[in-house]
Amino acid sequence: MSHKDQYAVFGSPIKHSKSPRIHQFFAEQTQQDLEYRAVLVPAEQFEQAVNDFFFQEGGRGINCTVPLKELAWAYADKKTARAELSKAVNTLALQEDGSILGDNTDGIGLVTDLQKNNAILLTGKKILILGAGGASRGIIGPIQDELPETITIANRTVEKAQNLTTEFAHKGAINACRYADLAGLSFDLIINATSASLSNDLPPLVDGLLKEQACCYDLAYANEATAFVRWAREQGALKSLDGLGMLIEQAAEAFYLWRGVRPMSEELIRLLDLERGN
Ligand code: NDP
Repeated sequence: MSHKDQYAVFGSPIKHSKSPRIHQFFAEQTQQDLEYRAVLVPAEQFEQAVNDFFFQEGGRGINCTVPLKELAWAYADKKTARAELSKAVNTLALQEDGSILGDNTDGIGLVTDLQKNNAILLTGKKILILGAGGASRGIIGPIQDELPETITIANRTVEKAQNLTTEFAHKGAINACRYADLAGLSFDLIINATSASLSNDLPPLVDGLLKEQACCYDLAYANEATAFVRWAREQGALKSLDGLGMLIEQAAEAFYLWRGVRPMSEELIRLLDLERGN
């Protein structure tokens, strides 16, 4: 077995994960001696795979992706406040006392990509989030920390959006609706947190949802513009972005938690963006 500290991303499917490449890049940039690999782990093997990795294979940290984030939340001995609130964990870290800390870096990854990388500020803004699944749950708290004016969550199954508003109402103004209820409303920022883009699909959005200078962000990412990014361009959004920057920033935050060193993400974002022809 290698002497290097071991890290991994667990998920199913996992073959196309960009995380090994991102973390190796960060390791070289910050001169950290580590190995990071992708491991196919279905939900029913999660606990055994995590135990083996941490307690037999020299593992120091694990990223968890679909469908493991809720299981990772339940597994962690301790959780950061943002992970506790989101009920999902994407980063597990072995602590010195042998316990496992769970964090969720997805939301801060999105906020960093919006505000720092793309100068899309959230404070005082009217924000629409599409979708009420695991990704929405992870991003609402960190967005509320930036003090937007309001957050509206639209979802096909409106009860799921209503449940989220109940959970997050103590942190700021938040309301839920159906897609049809959006007619006549307009927003400064629309975030697509549905999985529709993964099947080249679009939630049923009416025209006129964008205020002047409004921006749009798809959490999904692809080599070509996603269905939502194409819709945003057609609607005249000032900026229409996909989730590649968020992916890199959530990784940077996980790397910082594990190694205590903050990598610089700009160069990697430029590189991966160039590779897809932008
Ligand atoms: P979930 O399966 O938990 O939730 C899916 C959501 O999408 C639900 O609200 C569902 O609505 C909605 N939905 C699915 N298809 C459609 C459709 N055709 N029209 C309208 N709504 C639809 O998924 P996640 O929350 O885990 O992931 C959402 C997206 O976020 C994915 O694309 C994922 O790749 C991306 N993501 C990106 C990250 C990054 O780093 N860039 C990090 C995490 C996630 P309903 O409840 O009615 O079924």
